[in-house]
Amino acid sequence: MRSLLLWMARNPWLRERLPRLWFAKRAVRRFMPGEDAESALAAGTQFQIEGIGTLYTRLGENLTRIEEADEVATHYLGVMNEIRERRLDGEVSMKLTQLGFDLDVERTFEHASALASKAAESGRTLWVDMEGSAYAESTIAFYERLKAAHPNTGICLQAYLKRTASDVERLLPLAPQIRLVKGAYAEPPAIAFQARHDVDANYLALAVSMLEAARAGTRIRIGLGTHDVRLIEQVAEHADALGVPRAAFEIQMLYGIRADQQRRLNAAGFRVLALIAYGEAWYPWYMRRLAERPANVLFALRQILG
Ligand SMILES: Cc1cc2nc3c(=O)[nH]c(=O)nc-3n(C[C@H](O)[C@H](O)[C@H](O)COP(=O)(O)OP(=O)(O)OC[C@H]3O[C@@H](n4cnc5c(N)ncnc54)[C@H](O)[C@@H]3O)c2cc1C
Repeated sequence: MRSLLLWMARNPWLRERLPRLWFAKRAVRRFMPGEDAESALAAGTQFQIEGIGTLYTRLGENLTRIEEADEVATHYLGVMNEIRERRLDGEVSMKLTQLGFDLDVERTFEHASALASKAAESGRTLWVDMEGSAYAESTIAFYERLKAAHPNTGICLQAYLKRTASDVERLLPLAPQIRLVKGAYAEPPAIAFQARHDVDANYLALAVSMLEAARAGTRIRIGLGTHDVRLIEQVAEHADALGVPRAAFEIQMLYGIRADQQRRLNAAGFRVLALIAYGEAWYPWYMRRLAERPANVLFALRQILG
């Protein structure tokens, strides 16, 4: 089921047609408050009232015209202005291919630099998502360059990739900001752990290695980008054992997933952020959410029928 859904996520014919269907639009509402930034920012205000921070991402990836990247960058600058004016505890997270990475790396760098500078004006971080493994090395190299010019930048790393332990080591000297996730794409066994328990074990080992680095004095912001509460609790136990305070890491979850746990962890004294996605180009992103938990397909069907 996971493979089928991830294949559907990549299929151009389906990508073109499925999102136009009314029932698909209805089902996606579970994971995003609306297609426009205003819906996302309004949802962010509600999180803020509860003491939960927010991350904003406009959906869209693999642009085909570089001019689209200019529009995306201008859009995010506007969102950052809104975050500031509304005094939201919010940050932007974006994909490099959304800023034209496939077409013009220098232009992507200029855009990312402008966004990072804007984020720095209000003391915020600009987050770089991690895409499929074909982009892993180039994204990390891009981040190294971006981080050297803009300390207020963070990157997402995927625990299912076998290379990630060495990527963490490579980034530690940069005082990085790292969001650790399990990984959302279909990757081959040669480069990625396939079994859930192997991915989870690597996740825990990577998180602990970052906590140890923090304890040893490395400046590092650690984001646990997972809904796996058992794993979060294991990381927290290791942090306690190492004498690392809870403030040394934060939990990042997606809007609409385990909202009860987001509130519970926030009440228990963890810093929690909800990533709110919005935009019209939600199809591949939504299919990856379904693939993460095939039971969501039944949920979607129930919503459509009910
Ligand atoms: C803030 C954030 C940013 C992310 N950024 C990236 C990125 O840049 N690159 C990337 O490859 N991946 C990214 N991901 C996705 C990530 O890689 C995983 O695919 C996703 O988080 C599901 O794995 P999990 O860690 O929640 O653990 P799982 O073991 O998959 O899930 C643990 C539990 O969480 C719940 N759950 C998980 N997913 C869902 C879902 N879709 N619907 C309903 N319940 C669910 C279920 O109860 C499940 O049992 C991001 C995730 C988050 C939270």
